[in-house]
Amino acid sequence: MKYKKFHLIWVIAAMLLLTSVGCNKAPQKVVKTDFLMDTLMELTAYGPNGQKAVDDAMERIKEIDSMMSVSSKTGDIYKINEAAGKQPVKVSPETRYVVETAQHYSQLSDGAFDITIGPLVNLWGIGKKEDVPPLSAIKAAQKLIDYKKLELDASAGTIGLPQEGMSIDLGAIAKGYAGDEAAKVFKKYDIKSGILNLGGNIVVVGTRPDGKPWRVGIQNPFKPTGNYVAVVEEENKAVVTSGVYERYFIKDGKRYHHILDPFTGYPADNGLVSVSIITDKSIDADALSTTTFILGPQKGMELIEKLPGVEGIMITADKKIMVSSGLKGKVDIVDKDFTYEAGR
Ligand code: ADP
Ligand code: MG
Repeated sequence: MKYKKFHLIWVIAAMLLLTSVGCNKAPQKVVKTDFLMDTLMELTAYGPNGQKAVDDAMERIKEIDSMMSVSSKTGDIYKINEAAGKQPVKVSPETRYVVETAQHYSQLSDGAFDITIGPLVNLWGIGKKEDVPPLSAIKAAQKLIDYKKLELDASAGTIGLPQEGMSIDLGAIAKGYAGDEAAKVFKKYDIKSGILNLGGNIVVVGTRPDGKPWRVGIQNPFKPTGNYVAVVEEENKAVVTSGVYERYFIKDGKRYHHILDPFTGYPADNGLVSVSIITDKSIDADALSTTTFILGPQKGMELIEKLPGVEGIMITADKKIMVSSGLKGKVDIVDKDFTYEAGR
């Protein structure tokens, strides 16, 4: 009798365990956050390898940050800038890849996108200072900007700047590269469902755990983070936004933000308040969101249309939304203050 009771308890326990395993269909969710590359990073992974995936991906982002940030003394960019006007510097193949990709977008935009923008970025110091620099200083900084002068020696593996005072700033592209590398880590751990949010640079990995596409919100440029204007549904894509709301100051009623036009020396001022680019690689999306923001609504949208596999959403100061042809009918406007630009 005693034996039977004992046996029954085990049977019930085993049944309970089985039901709980059977019901527990939603995969485990892991979220990791950190402040890197001057922004909040939030990595989310679903599935059994989730923890390892977010840990390793965050490490990878840290590595890229110290290699490519202007202030990391052991990093490639710091060393190149220090050696400007002296000698080229041997750099990692990764830094070369990011710089080469940047040069490609400089050529495509005739210099609207230019990573030798360092002197102008430092002069404005958006996010640190709150003053409009004197015109003479802006002009002096502009003279030091020229992507064509950047010396890239593929066989020697070096990068150099020929003139003292020149400097590279990868603020418009390094986060994009970090997004691609973090996504690689997720793939290595076989994550079928995840989101990498690198301060508004989004990469969606796979689908949602229920197999449906991820819904990515496009930030409302006039409201605090998390208020969305529109939503797009995507799988395995990068959705990267450049906006006037990320870093700025307001002086005499005018907003001065961190996306600088190398031709005027001032923050780009063409009626746009944000541009989101959707494409396979986050490095391309990052470079292109900045590039097309500076090019403005017409030229910027023309460039998006010209590039295969690239889509874009532009938002103007008067709350109009323009979408590229491949996104027509696919962008769900969730804030009724915003309307489609007539004809689009
Ligand atoms: P965020 O850093 O907010 O994601 P962006 O990707 O648009 O936004 O990058 C803006 C940063 O890029 C600036 O803070 C600056 O470091 C750099 N930058 C500004 N203007 C240019 C430009 N014309 N070309 C290349 N980089 C730029
Ligand atoms: Mg960018």
